[in-house]
This record gives sequence, structure tokens and C-alpha cells, in this order.
Amino acid sequence: MGEHFSGLDLTFPVEYLKAAVVLSLLTVWVLVGLFSYLNLYTRRRYFTLWTCAWLFYALWLTLCIGSAGHGTQESSLVMMLKQWCVSASAVCLLWGSAVFHNLKPRQTMFGLFILFLFVWSYVGAYHLEDALHIQVPIFTLIGLSSAMTAWAFFKFRLRRGYIGAGLLSGGFFFWGFYLAGYPFIQTSEAMISSGFLASAVLQLFIAVSMIILVLEEVRSSNKLAFQQLRSQKSEKAVLQQKVASTEERYRDLFDKAHEGIIIVSAEDLQILEMNQTGRKLLGMQNSALKNPSLRQFVRDVADKEPAPAGGQEWFLWIKKVQQVTLVRFDGSSSQVEIDGAGVEYDGRSAFQFFIREVTERARLEQQLRQAERLSALGQMISGVAHELNNPLAVVMGYVELILKRQGLTDQIRGDLQKVALESQRAAKLVSNFLSFARGHSTHRVGVDLNQLIERVVELRQPEIRLIGMEVSTSLDRAISCAMADPDQVQQVLVNLISNSLHAMLDRPLPGRIRIRTAQEGASLFIRVEDSGPGIPAEIQPKVFEPFFTTKDVGIGTGLGLSIAHGIMSEHNGRITYERSPELGGACFVLEFPLVEVKEEPVKEAAAGAVAKPENAPAAPPQAKRSARVLVLDDEEMIATLLSEMLSLLGFQPTVCLTGQEALEKLKGEEFDVVLSDFRMPGMDGKKFFTLAVEQQADVARRIIFLTGDTVNEETQAFLKSIGAPCVGKPFRLEKIEQAVTAILENRREAVPALN
Ligand code: ADP
Repeated sequence: MGEHFSGLDLTFPVEYLKAAVVLSLLTVWVLVGLFSYLNLYTRRRYFTLWTCAWLFYALWLTLCIGSAGHGTQESSLVMMLKQWCVSASAVCLLWGSAVFHNLKPRQTMFGLFILFLFVWSYVGAYHLEDALHIQVPIFTLIGLSSAMTAWAFFKFRLRRGYIGAGLLSGGFFFWGFYLAGYPFIQTSEAMISSGFLASAVLQLFIAVSMIILVLEEVRSSNKLAFQQLRSQKSEKAVLQQKVASTEERYRDLFDKAHEGIIIVSAEDLQILEMNQTGRKLLGMQNSALKNPSLRQFVRDVADKEPAPAGGQEWFLWIKKVQQVTLVRFDGSSSQVEIDGAGVEYDGRSAFQFFIREVTERARLEQQLRQAERLSALGQMISGVAHELNNPLAVVMGYVELILKRQGLTDQIRGDLQKVALESQRAAKLVSNFLSFARGHSTHRVGVDLNQLIERVVELRQPEIRLIGMEVSTSLDRAISCAMADPDQVQQVLVNLISNSLHAMLDRPLPGRIRIRTAQEGASLFIRVEDSGPGIPAEIQPKVFEPFFTTKDVGIGTGLGLSIAHGIMSEHNGRITYERSPELGGACFVLEFPLVEVKEEPVKEAAAGAVAKPENAPAAPPQAKRSARVLVLDDEEMIATLLSEMLSLLGFQPTVCLTGQEALEKLKGEEFDVVLSDFRMPGMDGKKFFTLAVEQQADVARRIIFLTGDTVNEETQAFLKSIGAPCVGKPFRLEKIEQAVTAILENRREAVPALN
């Protein structure tokens, strides 16, 4: 029966053999079931191979049940099949372990191996006497395969730390150990049943270990999945943060863009979103209005076709016109450049508009145009002034000559003095025009504005009364003097009065003009008001532009107010328009800055402009003045006037109308003084001087130039370089006398010095 170990008897009677084999088979079926399930669950190749191994092993056990009875002699076929089953089981186990080890074994090699073992089993069963001879190598093989599987699980345990893997490693090791010893165990009847029972226990142990391993793997993969989930969550949070910050950046860019950005619905142009600049452009910073239509803020372009109503058509219209006027919420307007593009907004089609304000640019462009026109005006004024100088010189000169005559009645003398006064003012104005046209500063003195106004009114009163109108003053006597050029201010007042008179011509008589003065804050004000129709709002911005006039051709030049504007700017003041609150017509306000007056104010009359006429009779010519004077001027009237003036002064004039003629005269005769015009056609003053000095070097000290262009820098530079005296046109008798006498005296002084 069996041997007895002291204390523990592990032997079972041979009758138990069948039961032990069945038990072992059952446990193997547990394993087959388990491995098949795992195979289904994980689809790993080594589970398939191991399932095969267990199946072959189960087959072997089944065959063993048949031969487990007493005295049953196994047939060679059964023996061969049994050997082959064990061999196939060993090969599958080995193969599975190799795959588990990632060794990628060749299938054909294992196929051949199985075939070889099949042949070996056949040879063993049919040709070998001793069964042990074939069993030992085959069971050794399955034992080694199991040991290799044990090794694979051991390594797995080391790598991943699973307890199940460690248990499996032990299980397979002992199971292999058992199988390797099986050929010897089966020879002992006492041990064989115990052997099968032990293998059943080991197989159960392997099954349980496998379950533990699977559970551990599941737990670990859960943990991994959880960790991944957590890291994905934190990644998601990081991404969300990035999205938020990108959106914030975009919002910032959008909001702080210098251009207005407005997104509107493509359907009805309702505003869906806009940035701060857009809000400002529409004047909607503080408006609670929800989604107004952009269309209501855009004014039709006056000279272009009206804006269409529909969204798409309106968008195309905007793209075509490009520049429009935006009318803000408060009614004010601005010029803008607008461009747009079709976009998607919240899943609906929309238009995105970019709007740039160009009001400032338009203003600058207008200023530039104004400056260009002013410069054209300057050139024109300069030309006109030159042309006026000669006739003015003739008028002034002859009036002076007539006034010098004896026997004039008081009435004629008085009238002539008025002509002299006004022509002198005209001459001063012409020189002011020249200065204004060239941007030269004017001659400013302390001016009593009240007296200046009274003088202008006095001068214009008779004319104003004649046409049935009235002019009154309301002057604040306490105002300070203004630093101003009295002639220029007088010019402004005259222009304003003329305009008022003209504006009231069609109104019921009497038209009324009132001039007021006041000192307010740091400014002095002159207000010129009338009872005319005033200036319509639409032309108000244009009246100060040069050449803007509503008067008929030949009546208005459109220069009066622009000159007034220029003069006031030169005085650091300004001229503005408003409606007269009392008279109902126009009111022009002249504002002068209050500055410290550096010299005594000119109380009586503006220097030069309204100079006192000379009442004294002309001084008798001095007999000793018999000096010979050569007069050169291309204008015959001027030349004759000069000749008459010189004769009156007692000199002997000789008149020439061209430079050539004068050079000829200089060759033949001796002249004490040469009086030459500067601007002449053909040979001008400069050329004449050069040629004359070439002829007689001494001419350089005898020449006096006459010019209406004294402010011309080029002329001034030339005159300075030659040191010749100069008399400005229009000239007065007194000036001519002074200049000629000065040359003669210089010569007298020079002659003894030479001797
Ligand atoms: P001009 O008098 O030659 O037309 P201005 O520059 O002096 O040129 O005036 C420009 C325009 O301003 C005038 O044509 C007129 O329409 C308008 N204007 C000027 N003054 C008055 C006024 N007192 N009342 C009404 N309109 C005026």
C-alpha cells in the first residue's frame, strides 16, 4: 500500500488513483476555462497557446483515466497518444512562454518540433521496450517548459511587482517539477494518487494565482487610466486657461484697436459686437440702446446714389463709397473711412467693418487747400500791389504838386487834402498787402481802438447817410490800447462796413450798423453788427475762404473777409462770426490779445495811414539848387512827375525812358544825380547800374533807386551790397528832395577830400 511517514502520511491507496486523476482533470478544465476567458478578454497570443497546452494536458489526463484501473494494460496507440499529448502540451507551454518573453519564435520551428515529438511518441510506443525511455525525455521537456513559464512569470513579477506573477512563477515551477518527476512517481503505486492530487492542488493554485494576477493587472490598469484621466483633466484645465488667455488677448486687441471694429448681422445690419473705438465713433459709450442697426448711423453720401436698404446690398454700397459721414448718437458727425468683410459670427453670417476716423485728415487737407489758395492769393495781391504803386505814385505826386501851388481856394485845398490823405492810405495799404502776401510782420504800435473806429466812421459817414443807412458806435472808453497796425485794423473795419452796407441794400431802410468795443478778460473786442439778413448757416464756414463770394461778378471778389482773417491772425487775434442778438443781422467779432503797449499810443491818427495833410504852402525852391538830375523810369507818367517835382525843387531834370537811352546820356553829359527806377522791362535797375558803373565808376556814388518793391529781399540785398540810397514808390516830394540833397552834400564833402 504505501509507506508511512512518521506523523504525516501523504500516501493514498491506489484505489484513489482514478478519483485523483479526475480531480486533476477538473482543475485543468478550470484552467482551460480561465485561460479561454482571458484569451477572449485580452486577445493575447500566449493565452491561446497556453490554453492549447492545458487542452492537450487535459487530453492526457483523460487518457490516463482510461488506464487508471487495476491491471489494465495500455495499448501502444493509447500510449503513443498519451506521449504525444504531453509533448504537444509541453511545446505549447514553451511556445506561449517564448511569446510571453517577447522572443518571437518561428511557428514552423514549433510545428516541426511537434511533428518530431509525434514521431518520437510513435517510435517510443511501438518500438521501445521500456516505457520509461520515452517518458523521461518527454516529461523532462514539459517540466522544463513549465520551469521556463515559471521563469517568465518571475521576470514579470520583478518588472511589474505583481504578487500574482510571483505566485504563478512558484506554481509553474512546482508543477514542472512534479511533471519532470512523473515518470518515476507513476512507477510507485503508493505515490501515484498522491502525485495526481498534488498536481490538482498545483493546478488550482495556478488558476487562483492567475485570477490574482488578472485582478492586479485590472487594478493597475484602472489606476493608470485614472492617472491618465487626472493628467488629461489637468491638461484640459491648462488648455482651457490657454484658450481663456488667448481669448482675453484677442479681446484686448479688439477693444484697444485704434480702428473701430463693428460686427453686424448680414441680414438686418444689427450691431452684434463692437470695440471701444467703434462705440466712440458711434457716440454709444453711455448708451443703453441694444443692438441698433449700423445703417442708422451712416449718412447718405450727398453726391452719390442713396444707400440701399438690404443688408448685402448695403454692404456692397459701403465697400464702393469707402468714405462716409457717421452721425453720432448725440447728433454730431465725423468723416470716416470704412471697409468690410463677410465673416461668421456665432454660427450666423455677419459683416465685420473696420472704421477709421478721417475728420482730422479731412481738416488738414482743407487747411492745405486753403494754404495753397492763400499762397495764390498772396501772389495775386503782390502782383496787384505792384501795378497799383505807379498810378498811386502819380496821383499822390500830382496832388502834392498842386497843393504846393499858390492861390488855391480853401475849398479846393481841403478837398485835395482829403484826396492826399486817402491816396496815402491806399499807398500804405498796398505796402501792407505786400507785407501780408510775403508774410512779413507789420508795423505795430499802441492803438486806441475807439479813436480809430471814430475816424473810420467819420470818413464813411457821408457816404452811409447818402444811401439812407445809419452807423452808430457804442464804445467802452475804459479799454486799453491794442498793439496793432492801425492801417490794417482800419482796413478790416472798412471791409466789414462795406459788407454790411452791401448786405442791407435790399432790406427796408434805414439799415443799421453798430460798432461796439469792450474789454473782456485778456482780450479786446470790436463787434461790427448790422440789421441785414445775416449769413446762412451753410455758408458760414466758407466766408473766410479766399475768393468765396455770393456777390455778383464784378461786385464781390471774395477777398475782404479772408484778408481780414489774415490780418487778425497776424495780430495773434481772430475774427469770428455770430448772429447779432439785437440788430438781427451779421455780427463780426474782432478779438485782440491784451498785450503790454511798449510805445506811446498813436492817439490822433494812425501813423502814416491817416497822417495830417500839410496845410503849409510849398517852400520856395532854393536858387543854389541848379544841380543836373538824370531821371530814368519806363513809366512816362512817373518820369514826367519826377521831372516836374525836381523842377519845382529847383533842380535840372533830364528824362530817359530806357536804360540804353540813359547810358547814352551819361556818356555825353555830366549829371550830379541819377534817379533810376528798379523794376523795368528789358534793362532793369541792376543791369543799368552795372553798365553805368562800367562807363563811369563814379555813378555808384550818384545813383538813387526808386522802387515799389522795397520789401523784396533780393532787391534789398542788392541795394545793401552797393550802398545806394532808395526811395520807395509811391514817393512824396519831401523824400525826393531829401535823397537828392543827401547825394549832393556827400559829393561836396567828397570833392575837397579828393583834392
Ligand atoms: P466779398 O465781399 O467780395 O463777397 P468777403 O470775403 O468780404 O468777399 O465776403 C464773403 C461773403 O460773406 C460775401 O459774399 C457775403 O455772402 C458774406 N458776408 C460778408 N459780410 C456779410 C454781412 N455783413 N451780411 C451778410 N453776408 C455777409
